[in-house]
Amino acid sequence: MISATTGTPKVCNKCKGIFNSKRSGIRRPITIIYTAISISLCHFYNFAYATAPFRVGVSFMATKTIEKIIAPPPPHMVGDGFRVHNFFPGNHIGNARMSPFFLLDYNAKIDFSPRENPRGVGVHPHRGFETVTIAYQGKVSHHDSYGNSGTIGEGDVQWMTAGSGVLHKEYHDAEYSRKGGPFQMVQLWVNLPAKDKMTTPGYQAITAAQMGKYPLPANGGVVEVIAGEYGGVKGPATTYSPIQMYNARLNKGANLTINLPATYNTGILVVEGSIKVNGTENAPTDNFILFANDGDEISIEAPEDCVLLILSGEPINEPIAAYGPFLMNTHEQLEQALQDVRSGKFGHLDE
Ligand code: MN
Repeated sequence: MISATTGTPKVCNKCKGIFNSKRSGIRRPITIIYTAISISLCHFYNFAYATAPFRVGVSFMATKTIEKIIAPPPPHMVGDGFRVHNFFPGNHIGNARMSPFFLLDYNAKIDFSPRENPRGVGVHPHRGFETVTIAYQGKVSHHDSYGNSGTIGEGDVQWMTAGSGVLHKEYHDAEYSRKGGPFQMVQLWVNLPAKDKMTTPGYQAITAAQMGKYPLPANGGVVEVIAGEYGGVKGPATTYSPIQMYNARLNKGANLTINLPATYNTGILVVEGSIKVNGTENAPTDNFILFANDGDEISIEAPEDCVLLILSGEPINEPIAAYGPFLMNTHEQLEQALQDVRSGKFGHLDE
């Protein structure tokens, strides 16, 4: 808690005693005008000092209020391997509202039947952003035209920087596919600042073991830090703009306080269980909570065991031109991307 400044304001007879300030020597009014100015200054200063703790409180400790709680929109299939609820961009949340996060597709928990030939999405391009896949249940594999590949399972994250452009394919891991069973994933599209849109493609395979881990007191659970920092614990992901991304795994009865800048766009996906937010509102499983940009503190209570994906980032205030798998700043850049895919500049990848 930040305390009020401890200066000694000048005092007048009216203010004396109220603010317990000492007279700093003898100040003898020379003229009526001087006295008048002095008194008004005194009132001004004392008002400022008196309200300082309140103002400090507002600017450093205010609650980040809930803008809305969104139930999962009707699902659609991405390829034949991902049955997703698209929370944004869309009617509920416009395409810059959660910037730098541009898209959130949530494959809520479903059971896939066993299959020899893995389900998924065939070869397709991306340019101008990053795809971040977070696995909660099931296993998913990735291959791209830059030669990167990997398989992730529960608690792992694939952070692919498409940058100047890759072709990739995403599909169920062969072993998971043969057995089938519960499947639950998130895919985020994270925008890149204009200066980094054409950066060399990259790939970060981040395992559950590599996540920053902040244990909560009283066996409350753990905050796994994917990107950014919580309570001094840093996440392993490298990002191009300031991002906080956590998986909070809370035990029944746990309390969690999160401090994030008011300017950061912030949302929470309730992956498992349900939570009470800011002491008032209940958010059930599979709902997305969008926060207003009006404060910096969120408090969460877990009436049952739960898993939360917490997203927060500094907005990228640049024009957005989006078309299919491309996320650029201008229409011309989108046309260039299409041309570059046709002319083979995104490389080659077998189906
Ligand atoms: Mn993709």
